[in-house]
Amino acid sequence: MDPKLRSEEITKLLEKYNYEYYVLDNPSVSDAEYDRLMQELIAIEEAHPELKSPLSPTQRVGGTVQDEFKKVTHKRMMLSLANAFNETDLRDFDRKIREVLGVDKVTYMAEMKIDGLGMSLVYRNKLQYAATRGDGSEGEDVTSNVITIKSIPSHIDCNDELEIRGEVFMPKKSLIKLNKEREKAGEPLFANARNAAAGSIRQLDSAIAASRGLDAFWYYFVNARDFGIRYHSEALAYADKLGFKTNPERRICNGIDEVLDYIDEYTEKRPSLDYDIDGIVIKVDDMSMYDKLGYTSKTPRWAIAYKFPPEEVITKLTDIVYTVGRTGKITPNAVLEPVRVAGSLVQRATLHNEDFIREKDLKVGDYVVLRKAGDVIPEVVRVVKERRTGDEQEYKMIENCPVCGAPLTKKDAMHFCLNPYCEAKKIEGMIHYSSRDAMDIEGMGEKVVEQFFNQGFFRDIAEIYDLADHREEIIALDGWKDKSIDNLINAIEKSKSNSLEKVLFGLGIKEVGAKTAKTLARIYGDIDSLKNATFEELIEIPDVGPILSQSLVDWFSNDNNLRLVEALKEKGVNFKYLGSTSKAADSYFSGKTVVLTGTLSSMGRKEATNLLEDLGAKVTGSVSKATDCVIAGVEAGSKLDKAQQLGIQVLNEEEFLALLK
Ligand code: NAD
Repeated sequence: MDPKLRSEEITKLLEKYNYEYYVLDNPSVSDAEYDRLMQELIAIEEAHPELKSPLSPTQRVGGTVQDEFKKVTHKRMMLSLANAFNETDLRDFDRKIREVLGVDKVTYMAEMKIDGLGMSLVYRNKLQYAATRGDGSEGEDVTSNVITIKSIPSHIDCNDELEIRGEVFMPKKSLIKLNKEREKAGEPLFANARNAAAGSIRQLDSAIAASRGLDAFWYYFVNARDFGIRYHSEALAYADKLGFKTNPERRICNGIDEVLDYIDEYTEKRPSLDYDIDGIVIKVDDMSMYDKLGYTSKTPRWAIAYKFPPEEVITKLTDIVYTVGRTGKITPNAVLEPVRVAGSLVQRATLHNEDFIREKDLKVGDYVVLRKAGDVIPEVVRVVKERRTGDEQEYKMIENCPVCGAPLTKKDAMHFCLNPYCEAKKIEGMIHYSSRDAMDIEGMGEKVVEQFFNQGFFRDIAEIYDLADHREEIIALDGWKDKSIDNLINAIEKSKSNSLEKVLFGLGIKEVGAKTAKTLARIYGDIDSLKNATFEELIEIPDVGPILSQSLVDWFSNDNNLRLVEALKEKGVNFKYLGSTSKAADSYFSGKTVVLTGTLSSMGRKEATNLLEDLGAKVTGSVSKATDCVIAGVEAGSKLDKAQQLGIQVLNEEEFLALLK
C-alpha cells in the first residue's frame, strides 16, 4: 500500500482509538493493537520523514480535556513515555543514552508501570490541585475526586511549591468488586483497571469516585532539583518522608543487564501484585542529566516504558466449530481472528458447551475479549457488545455429529454422539495406543489426540506416524513450540522399536490386557505367528480362556485389522518380541543351553521355549555334551535317558518353575 495512504489510514484509526480510550474510557481495540498500529506509523514516518507532521499521533500526547472540568495548564509538560517491547529496544535505549552521556554504564531506576491514570499534584503546604495529563500541556482539575483517595495527603510539611506525579489506580480487588456490582445492576463492565480508574476519576459526583476503592502511587517528584535533590531515587525517598505513597518494588539497577533481570523477575511476580501493571518503567537515576538527554515533543529521552506482552486482547469471533471427544462429547470451539496474547498466537478457544455460549450471549461476528495468562489456556471472557453492528449471527447449537452425522443426545449441559460406529470413536483407540502400558508415546495424551484428530492431522493409528507432515499446522496451534513438537515426534519415532507386547496391547483387541499381551508376545514371538494361531492352540495357554481366544481369532480375521497391521509395519513399527534383557542377566538360565522333553502341565512347549529364551537361554532340540540342562515333563523319553547317561542336570517341572521365579 502507498505509505501516504497507509499513514492517513492509521492516523484516522489512532485518533478514533484515542477518543474512545481517553474521553470515553471505553476502548474498542486492545492496547496491543493500538501499540502495533502506532509502531507501524512510526516506521512509515521514519522511512518517509516528509509524511511526519506535528499533528501526527506519533508526536502528540494522546489525551484530551473535557469541558465538564476546570482546565489546568501544566507548569511543566506532562509527557508520555516511549515504548520498548523487547530486549533489543531496551539495549538501543541504553546505547543511545551512553553515547550522549559518554559513559560505559548508566545507573537506572526500574519501577512498576502502574496501569492507571497519570496524575499531577501541586502543593504549597496544602494540596492546590490535582490534574489529569490531558493533552500534556493542559489537564482537567479533578481535585475533588482525587482527594477522596485516602492515601493522598491533603497537607505536607513543606511550604515551597512542590509538584509530584503519579498514577491513580484501581486495585485488583476493587475492580473485581466493582464489576460484580455492575454486572448485578446490568451495567457494562470495565475492561481493565486503567479504564475503571479513569472512569472513576472523571465522575462529576465525587461520592462515586470515593466509593470506587481507588489508590495511588507517586513516582516523579517533578521539581526535586529546586530542593537540591540530584537523584531520582533520592527524590522518591524524600517523597516517602513527606507522606506520599511510593511503590516499594522500585530498584536501582547498575546497567541495562540488571534492568533485564528485574524485568524477568517482575514478569513472574506480576500476577501476585494486588494492582495491575502493564510494564516496567526505566529511568536514568541522575536527574542532572535530563536536560542533556532532552525530550521529543511527546516523551522524555531519559526514560522508557517496557510493555509486557498483552494478556487480554479483543478479537473477532469468526466462526464456531465443533469437535468430538473420546466419549463422543461434542465441544463447541471459537474460531478467532488470530491474535497474539501473553506471548502466543491464539486462533481457537474452547467454548465448553451450549450453555456457556448462551450465558455469554456469543454470536458469530462478535468482538470478544480473550484472556490468556502464561501457560493457561485461552479463554473467551465476554462480548464487546458496543461493537455489534447488527450483522452478527444468532447462535444455534448443531443437532448432528460433525463427524458421522448421527443425531446428538443431550445430557445435562453436554451434547454427545452416541453412534458406536462414529469415526470419532477412533480417538479413544488412539489415546489407548499412545498410553503408557501400550506404545508409551509421551506427550500424546487425551487432549492432544482429540485436538489432532479434529484438526484432521490423523484419522487412524497408522497416521500417527505421519504427524511430522503437519508440523507447520501444529506450530500454528496454541501452546505448541518447535521444541514440544520435536519431543512428540521423537516419542512417536521411539515407539516404533517397542517390543511386540506393547503394540499388541495398543491395538486394543478386546480382552487383551497388558499382561495377556506379554504372555502372547512371549509365546508367539511375532505377530504373524500369533495371527496364525488357532482357537484350539490359544485356549491351551494358561490364563487364556475361550472368550479371549475367540476375540483374537476374530480380530485377526478382520481385513481392516490386518490392513492396519500391514500399514504399521510399513511405517516401521516393530512386531517382534524383544524379551527383557534385564531379567535375562540375573536369571539361572542365562547363557545356558537347555533341552525340553516330555509334557509340562503348566505350559506348552512353545511358551516354555519363549520363556527360557526370554531369560537368555538357548533352547535346542537334542541332548549333547554341550547341553547344560534338560527340563523333563511327564512321559519324557530318550532325551531324558541320554541326559542321565551324560550326567547332565535334569530338572522336573516343579524345579523348573521354582527357578523361573
Ligand atoms: P503509556 O501508558 O504507554 O506510558 C506513559 C504513562 O505511564 C505515563 O503517562 C504514566 O501515566 C504511566 N506510568 C505508570 N507508571 C509509571 C511510572 N512508574 N513512571 C512513569 N510513568 C508511569 O502512555 P500513554 O500515553 O499514557 O498511553 C498510551 C498507551 O495507552 C498506548 O501505548 C496504549 O497501550 C494505550 N492506549 C490504548 C488505546 C486503545 O484504544 N486501546 C488508545 C490509546 C492509548
